[in-house]
Amino acid sequence: MNELRYQLDLLKAMNQKLSEKERMYRLICETSDAAYLYYSFEKNEITTLGKWNDFFESTDRGGRDIRDFEQVFDLVDEAYVMPLRDILYLEKNGESQASLECMQKNKKVWLHVNCHVQYENGQPLDKLITIKNITKQKFQNEELLYMAYYDAMTGLYNRNYFVSLLGEFVRKAYENNTIVSLLMIDIDDFKYVKDGMGMVAGDELVQMFGMFLKDFSSENVIVSHMSSDVYCVAIYDPIAGLNDANSVIHAIKKRIKEPFYLSSGQALNITVSIGVAEYPEAASSTLELINCAEIVLFKGKNKGKNTVSYFDAPILNEFLHAVEIENKLKEAVHENNFLLYFQPQYYSGSKHLRGVEVLLRWRDKDGKIISPATFIPIAEKNGTIIPIGHWVVQESIKTYAQWKKQYGVHFVLSINISALQYSEDDFVDNLIETINKYEINPNEIELEITESVLIDDFDSVNEKLKVLRDYGIRISLDDFGTGFSSLSYLKQLPINTLKIDKSFVDTVMSDSATRVITESLINMVKALGLESIADGVEEEQQYKYLHAIGCDMIQGYLMGKPMPPGDLESMFKHM
Ligand code: C2E
Ligand code: MG
Repeated sequence: MNELRYQLDLLKAMNQKLSEKERMYRLICETSDAAYLYYSFEKNEITTLGKWNDFFESTDRGGRDIRDFEQVFDLVDEAYVMPLRDILYLEKNGESQASLECMQKNKKVWLHVNCHVQYENGQPLDKLITIKNITKQKFQNEELLYMAYYDAMTGLYNRNYFVSLLGEFVRKAYENNTIVSLLMIDIDDFKYVKDGMGMVAGDELVQMFGMFLKDFSSENVIVSHMSSDVYCVAIYDPIAGLNDANSVIHAIKKRIKEPFYLSSGQALNITVSIGVAEYPEAASSTLELINCAEIVLFKGKNKGKNTVSYFDAPILNEFLHAVEIENKLKEAVHENNFLLYFQPQYYSGSKHLRGVEVLLRWRDKDGKIISPATFIPIAEKNGTIIPIGHWVVQESIKTYAQWKKQYGVHFVLSINISALQYSEDDFVDNLIETINKYEINPNEIELEITESVLIDDFDSVNEKLKVLRDYGIRISLDDFGTGFSSLSYLKQLPINTLKIDKSFVDTVMSDSATRVITESLINMVKALGLESIADGVEEEQQYKYLHAIGCDMIQGYLMGKPMPPGDLESMFKHM
């Protein structure tokens, strides 16, 4: 009796445990988003678990139970029956799985099917088939992929993906010994569209122009929106007249003759600038090719708008050289690797020293002297001319003050001043302060200005020059004859001296027209009560002629090259 009771209790306890387990498994299955098919090999029986019915909602199978695997095929399109069959009928120990695409209620759906077969003692025992609807993840993945490859605004390839596709073009071109043309296209004055009409109008224009370029896309042509208003078109193995750079340029030019209509109804006329570079002529790698197209594009843009610029080697070298100088220049300013040379100027009659022109030199790390003709234009562009120019003024006036003290000399110190320096508010005050600090007579200081100083802001510069001139500082107009040389300026400007450019001096003996101009210039200078100085006099004959026609002063290699201060000091000792 006791024995029986004991067995009953045990059975009860086991049943309780089993139903607990069943509840737990059911909970797991019901809350999982998958459907399960359990198959027992021994019983040849299928049990469905989990979200099975959800998958059949759209089929005529409804909520009915599955009795054999064939019924599962109702879930998928004809085309997927075969791969699904391979998975469902798996008999080997292990796993098999695949993602299948099918239509349900006219909607595309992706299912992930996994089959797991369990063996025991070399015999198949259980099989579990798990089916999951992965449509959502699939869309998310595609969205992520889209974001990774495409530009959301235009639908064109984004920069990164374009670079990788261009890389494939370049590789193919290398293998097949052909070329890849790259066009970089930039909408001119895009900033004004954005600033003037608003960001939305700017975006619309970027979109519309992007859509227009998209039409060029084909197997051999890829189009990208690189950034803001910059696009790239790459053509693999271009065919002249059909899909080469020129035909794309021609189509673009034709399109921009017509306005772009914004959604507001506003018509927008644009021009574009284009840079063209070709593999392998311009570059041997993808990024280099993009760089080359960009360089020529911006070189062209500097010259004006609505340009098409083609890559050529000198352009690249010039650019690379300028970049190198620019990088080194910032360092040089930081480390103050500059020195001053001085070139004497003489009265043409007495041949006495009239003054010296201060000429800047830059000694780079290797000890090489770099000409100001190379680096001053770059320093003017990147603004480093301000600290450099400030140093030239301070250092040269200090040096002159020392010479005066030490050698008792007295002459005119001519300092070149850039346009940008005049735009500094404290330029005039600083200069006057320095002159006072070293107790120099203002008329011992001469500022050499070029016509470019006057181009941007004639009135404001002229005002400053008048203040300096009233203070007693001399003003000399440098490089006369090389710029626009407006004679009307001569009357308006508070100048003392006019410097006749070397290019006149060079041809004065060989060209009678130059002689006529030079003579009338010197007469005019005299009539205006100014002094004249000829720059770059290298030959005795030139000197004699200039003296004969009344040129007051001479500067040039004939009488003295630019020299370091030590050489000039030796000269002072013998004066
Ligand atoms: P620039 O003011 O016209 O200076 C005259 C240039 O002609 C100097 O070149 C001088 O060395 C050169 N030169 C003078 N006589 C002869 C000659 O007989 N034959 C030849 N072949 N050349 C002669 P440099 O020193 O190379 O200076 C070039 C330019 O750099 C200067 O032209 C000036 O515009 C600029 N520059 C030089 N120093 C400074 C500076 O401190 N500040 C600024 N803003 N510009 C400077
Ligand atoms: Mg000068």
